Amino acid sequence: RPGVFVYRTIEDLEAMLEYAKENNVKSAAVIGGGLLGLEAAKAVADMNVESHIIEFAPNLMCRQIDQGGHDALVGTIESLGLKVHCDARTESIVGSDGSTDTESIAPVAALSFSNEGWDDLPVQMVVVSCGIKPRDEVARDAGIVVGERGGVVVDEQLRTSVKDVYAIGEIALYNNFIYGLILPGYDMANVAASAIASDIGIGIDSDEESPKFTGADLSTKLKLLGCDVASFGVNQPKPDDEDVSELVWNDPLQGVYRKLIFNKSGSKLRGGILVGDAGDYTTLHKIATQGAELPENPSVLLAPPSARGGEVSMEEEVSDDPTSQVCSCNDVTRGTINEAVAELGVEGATLPALKKCTNAGTGCGGCEPLVKKILG
Ligand SMILES: Cc1cc2nc3c(=O)[nH]c(=O)nc-3n(C[C@H](O)[C@H](O)[C@H](O)COP(=O)(O)OP(=O)(O)OC[C@H]3O[C@@H](n4cnc5c(N)ncnc54)[C@H](O)[C@@H]3O)c2cc1C
Repeated sequence: RPGVFVYRTIEDLEAMLEYAKENNVKSAAVIGGGLLGLEAAKAVADMNVESHIIEFAPNLMCRQIDQGGHDALVGTIESLGLKVHCDARTESIVGSDGSTDTESIAPVAALSFSNEGWDDLPVQMVVVSCGIKPRDEVARDAGIVVGERGGVVVDEQLRTSVKDVYAIGEIALYNNFIYGLILPGYDMANVAASAIASDIGIGIDSDEESPKFTGADLSTKLKLLGCDVASFGVNQPKPDDEDVSELVWNDPLQGVYRKLIFNKSGSKLRGGILVGDAGDYTTLHKIATQGAELPENPSVLLAPPSARGGEVSMEEEVSDDPTSQVCSCNDVTRGTINEAVAELGVEGATLPALKKCTNAGTGCGGCEPLVKKILG
């Protein structure tokens, strides 16, 4: 239907821009309040179009944050003029002829919901951003085993059900899960390359164990609509998980919400959610995922950097520790950046050169300010 878009490529964005301009679009709905949906909603708002975020779940980014994080994030989003509709059960896209027929080519005029008492939302453009569906047609046609809901089933070495055929990235279904991020895709590529090399008898010593893909760290830190949003480690323990002690910082005045999840005895940081101020994400992520030592009183970790000692800084801390992660999309550490700077020399170590040789900042781009800071 004219006016309905997906948000994946630059061409999608260009088509949205053209449609909005040509059709004098005043209001648009983005279906899906996950990472991409929020990015798409910002893109819509940047077109000077009223932007509505339509989410089926009770809160935004439900994979990464909980209700408290949602409340802080919504506060920021709504202060920018975007509208958030959660628990929204979209029923159909209504055309300008009033029809909800999927064959109709009348342009979009509204969204309708099955929620009792909800009116139609008048919108002239809809962006669908509610999950990824692997393009596995070629594999299906070749008789390769795919999952019930799509995706090519792979083992720990990214082998499919057919000899000599591997799958990596967003098409690979490992342990019934599709990883929709860059870093797990790179990890898979490394493992698959080793497996292929081993199959053809190169690279790996016979008694050396081939690397395996056993899942990936889904920790993320992003700036969404100007708001820091991060989650790491075990960010939403299951209801029957008893090894949990939580510390929560909730500051609605500053729009900051932080939850740190420790084990029951408080001797180990298991994960957390940071909204509004994630300036110390790198440190916390490292403590949780690499088991780095906790300070004597772990509760000192809870306050946001912007509230510690009256210092107001929303900027990411730059750690000197060579093992600390700078770019989470491509897993680039401070040490790798230091080595690249030494190799390129003072004159040659520009941001573009550093991005080219380390890949830092080439994913979501969120770490660019940090890389610039390291360059001084
Ligand atoms: C707008 C947007 C923002 C994102 N931001 C982030 C981010 O900040 N951080 C992050 O970690 N991840 C992000 N992601 C997710 C990340 O881009 C994907 O996880 C990653 O690109 C997956 O890599 P891939 O190679 O598996 O698939 P893709 O990058 O989708 O590449 C698959 C390619 O295969 C081609 N293709 C499909 N079928 C065929 C065929 N039959 N024959 C030949 N070619 C074919 C497609 O055209 C495409 O070029 C983002 C995604 C989107 C859409």
